[in-house]
Amino acid sequence: MTAVGENLNRVKSSIPSSVTLVAVSKLKGPELIMQAYEAGQRHYGENYVQELTTKYSQLPKDICWHFIGHLQSNKVKYIAPFVHLIHGIDSFKLLTEVNKQAQKHNRIIHCLLQVYIAREETKFGLDFNEVETLLSSPGFAALHNVKVTGLMGMATNTADIESVKEEFKSLAAFAKHLQSTRPPSANFSLQHLSMGMSGDYREAIACGSNMIRIGSSIFGERN
Ligand SMILES: *Cc1c(COP(=O)(O)O)cnc(C)c1O
Repeated sequence: MTAVGENLNRVKSSIPSSVTLVAVSKLKGPELIMQAYEAGQRHYGENYVQELTTKYSQLPKDICWHFIGHLQSNKVKYIAPFVHLIHGIDSFKLLTEVNKQAQKHNRIIHCLLQVYIAREETKFGLDFNEVETLLSSPGFAALHNVKVTGLMGMATNTADIESVKEEFKSLAAFAKHLQSTRPPSANFSLQHLSMGMSGDYREAIACGSNMIRIGSSIFGERN
C-alpha cells in the first residue's frame, strides 16, 4: 500500500459510509491520483480548468470529476462534456452558462450553489437571500440542463473551532429550511451538503455535511 493509499484509508475509516469523500487532487500529478485510484477512490476535486481537462484526458474514464474552484463563465465549455458535479455556482449568470454548455452536450449537469458562510472577505459565494432569489426566479425554472443538487460552503480559516462549527451549522440549517419550503422539481433537489476540508471535516460531518473535500490529508501538503 502506498502512502497515499494509507492516508486515504485513514480518512475513510474516520467518516461514515454515507459521506461522499472527494479527494482534492489540485496541483498533484497523475501518479498520485492513480495511487488513490488503485486504492479504490473514484471522486476527485479540481480547482483549475486547464489542469482538470489535462487530467481528464490522461486518467481512467470512470473517475467522477468535481470542479470545486472559482469557475469563470468563459471556461465552462471546457469542462461541460464530462464534469460530474460543479460545487462553486455563485451567480445566476454562471448557472445559465453551465445550462447552455450542458445543452450542447445533451447533458444535465449537477451543480451546488456556493453559499458564503465565512467571515473572510475573499471567499466567493451567495448569501442566503441571494440563494432564495435565484431559486425563485422564473429564469431558474427555465433551465432544463442543470440540476441544483445541493449547497457548498467553506468555513473561516481559523483555529477558533467553535466559530467554524457555527458557520457549518448555519449552512446545514439553511439547507433544511430550503428542503422544507421548496419541493423538489426537475432542476432542484437538495441531496448534497458539501462542507469540510482536511482541517475541519470532522466538525463539518458532526454539523450535517455529507460530502467532504479532502486534499492535504490524502496527498500531502501542496507547494
Ligand atoms: C483546496 C481545497 C480543498 C482541500 O483543502 P485541504 O485543506 O487540502 O483538504 C477543499 N475545498 C476547496 C474549495 C479547495 O479549494
